Amino acid sequence: RAGKALFEAQRVGRGKIITHGGFYASPAAVRDGLRNGEFFLLFQAVIDLATGVAIGAEALVRWQHPTRGLVSPAEFIPLCEASGSIVVLGQWVVRESIAEAANWRRLRRWEHEEVSVSINASARELASTGYGEFVLAECATAGLPPAQVCIEVTETDFGTDAAVVRANIRVLRGAGVLISMDDFGTGHSSLSRLTEIDLDVIKIDQSFVAVIDTQLDSPVADLTIKLAAALDLQVVAEGVETEAQAQWLRERGCLLAQGYLYSRPVAADEFVARFLVQPSS
Ligand code: C2E
Ligand code: CA
Ligand code: CA
Ligand code: CA
Repeated sequence: RAGKALFEAQRVGRGKIITHGGFYASPAAVRDGLRNGEFFLLFQAVIDLATGVAIGAEALVRWQHPTRGLVSPAEFIPLCEASGSIVVLGQWVVRESIAEAANWRRLRRWEHEEVSVSINASARELASTGYGEFVLAECATAGLPPAQVCIEVTETDFGTDAAVVRANIRVLRGAGVLISMDDFGTGHSSLSRLTEIDLDVIKIDQSFVAVIDTQLDSPVADLTIKLAAALDLQVVAEGVETEAQAQWLRERGCLLAQGYLYSRPVAADEFVARFLVQPSS
């Protein structure tokens, strides 16, 4: 396994996807980073558009690298995927996110439905045998009901790994974990992917929300909301930055949203203070 990952890292390196120095995200480097506490999670609230209440949060990883400073996941996640280190990093993300969400259950002060945590999973993770069981074991350890976990996947061609991916999704959904299609509409053959994987949630990509303006419509966002309704799926809009966008989404029946209008990704403590602990009246 390690040999295979190394081979792929070298192959990708030669293919110029990883340039010189890209090996900072090698399996060994990521393991060291995890051991040294260089990774941390931020959480972005998922908001009920009707009430403004947070129904959950998405975990977003950051790397405080000793020499590179704060690195964005948009930079290091693709490198981790190429080197194979995404699997060990992903396990850490799953464990930390679930432990945090288990905390929220205890800290939450007001009588609202349970707060869930959304976790991003790379294709490589979903295609690892035992991924589903791992997530469920972490839920059991932390005392978090699996129904409070949502796994976000992207539209990827799983190719020969499709059977393993489907098995993991079956294990997860069988225990109540929700499966969400992230960045919907930006990948390839979106519609066929929709029927390939059993889903619970579709996320409207922020690029289709960004175009919504007081004068401008977003046909793709509109269609995604209708598609979700027809398929009986929940729909979450991401990248909501203005009240006009929120209003547009509400009018079309989109119930859930994330975005800077409500909160940037913040540390867990801040998420708890701002969204879970009832403000004193
Ligand atoms: P994503 O899953 O699509 O996450 C949404 C990204 O949009 C996040 O960027 C978030 O900070 C940003 N965002 C949220 N609201 C707004 C808004 O109102 N306006 C704008 N302009 N941006 C907004 P971030 O945190 O840099 O993450 C980038 C990507 O890295 C994520 O995209 C996801 O694909 C990946 N990623 C992050 N954490 C993980 C992880 O733990 N595992 C894996 N596999 N991928 C991750
Ligand atoms: Ca996501
Ligand atoms: Ca997304
Ligand atoms: Ca994205």
